[in-house]
Amino acid sequence: MIECMTETAAELFAARAVIEELRVVHSEIAVLEAKQMALMTALYTLRREEQLDLGVAYLHAGEDAATEIGIALKMSQRSADLLINLGLDLNNRCPATLEAFAAGRIDLAQARAISQTLANVPDSVRAELEPKVAGYAEDHDPARIKRTARRWLLEADPEGQAVRRKAAEADRYVSISAADDGTAVVDAVLPAAGGQTLYERLREMASTQVCGSDPRTTTQCRADALVALADGTGRLTCQCGRPDCPHAEIDATTPAPRKVLVQVGVSAETLAGLRDNPALLAGFGAIDADLARQLARHARFDIITDPTETPAAPVRAVKATSETTSTATELRYRPGIRVAARVRALDGTCRAPGCQIPAAATDLDHQDRFDHTNPISGGHTTEDNLGARCRRHHRLKTHSDNHRNQWQVIHHPGREVEWVTPTGESATTTPEGVPFLFPTVFVPPVTADGVPEAEPNGSIWDPGIAESEMTELLHVYYSPAQRREAFRAARHARQAQHNM
Ligand SMILES: [Zn+2]
Ligand SMILES: [Zn+2]
Repeated sequence: MIECMTETAAELFAARAVIEELRVVHSEIAVLEAKQMALMTALYTLRREEQLDLGVAYLHAGEDAATEIGIALKMSQRSADLLINLGLDLNNRCPATLEAFAAGRIDLAQARAISQTLANVPDSVRAELEPKVAGYAEDHDPARIKRTARRWLLEADPEGQAVRRKAAEADRYVSISAADDGTAVVDAVLPAAGGQTLYERLREMASTQVCGSDPRTTTQCRADALVALADGTGRLTCQCGRPDCPHAEIDATTPAPRKVLVQVGVSAETLAGLRDNPALLAGFGAIDADLARQLARHARFDIITDPTETPAAPVRAVKATSETTSTATELRYRPGIRVAARVRALDGTCRAPGCQIPAAATDLDHQDRFDHTNPISGGHTTEDNLGARCRRHHRLKTHSDNHRNQWQVIHHPGREVEWVTPTGESATTTPEGVPFLFPTVFVPPVTADGVPEAEPNGSIWDPGIAESEMTELLHVYYSPAQRREAFRAARHARQAQHNM
């Protein structure tokens, strides 16, 4: 009995020691996070001052610091941006919060909660409230901090609420990011009434546009309803499959969904169902072959031939050798439709390290600068001399060309792009689209029974949409069901032969 009690006391003591150590470690991490944030903010300030001196616009000076940090730490530029913004806010407007964070009395999430809640508050009110909130934060979690601080704010500055709401609504956004296994996360901040309107509409569609036998859950129907609002159909189609479905009549008149407004890079063999290599959904990443074929069903095609089969001279050689004859299109600043589509398909995304902006939303930037006064002497408008760059990284390259930063952006053969930071660190990116368009790994087609495959509804291919060179290939496009059937038939034939 006594032994047993001793045991329990020892366990209690051990657990307390663990909790105590946890608290210490958590505080030490906060100290280091505050230090990391301060260093990032210092680098930003340094680069900003340099660039302002070099005549870079007020709005953009210093923005390359986040890319530089991303390369140094293998961190996303967005994470660096968020930390720099927090650092600037705490430096300029939240001294008590900065002090508590640097001392490890509050952590990063708590500091962020304070910064966000006080973001749109006038200086006089914030100066009064901020020390109080920082003190409260030491004993409360981020959600509680926000709620309490909001209440204090309404008490201290009731007439400012309308202004704050307006400012907060100005920050409304929708973002879509890749999630696992071919799904995406849609994240949005909307004015409260707009958010409620959207949700009510999705709920109404889910409950009135499908019958009780639809195989989807209400949650799934609401998700499909959101897409239906955008794809031109405007309504859900019941998937019960019953001819006597009360929605059958109206479903029959629903227009077909509009073409998918995405870019998919897929190898010809995979598109034809001969292989199951993954495909590239621009701005998203790898998707499985079946999903790519489903998306391709109503697509417009650009044929991209293998660049290794038609080796082009390296960029530098184009400039160096005088015998290279330039075509008229190479001497125009804007690339033609074919070259543009090809460069975007090969590159897949913006070519800066860690940047996820899909190539379709990028500028095509001349690596060797185009010379508007004498096109023959400058960089030409060729596939090798063009690269996909988002606005921000296009600016970085332009500033580099104009000596308004100390970056170097170097194109190597094979479309490799090397980014050298002002401190001499370097990161090289490869074109993301190439391994999807021209895979070197052979992935055999999936034929096993029981593999769940979404069946296309309607005709598998409308040859009217296909374009010349692709037509031949598209005739051999198999739907997953047809493919299964073809392999099954082949197996039966083999077995029959074996049994004879
Ligand atoms: Zn139904
Ligand atoms: Zn970029």
